[in-house]
Amino acid sequence: MKSTVDERRCVGHVRCHALAPQVYPLDEQGYAAPGERAVPAGREAAAERGAAACPEGAISLHR
Ligand code: SF4
Repeated sequence: MKSTVDERRCVGHVRCHALAPQVYPLDEQGYAAPGERAVPAGREAAAERGAAACPEGAISLHR
């Protein structure tokens, strides 16, 4: 599974990071680090919870 954070939509609620810090690290501005990255093994459910918690729809998951 891979996750993508759309930096054009992310406004820095950090809900994703609160639920899944290993999946959604923060950048130096305190926003979810943008772009695509692999979801660590065993963190798929957390990745889905974090994506669902984003009020901006900034996170997409794909296999
Ligand atoms: S919850 Fe959404 S808007 Fe907030 S930091 Fe995460 S990706 Fe960005």
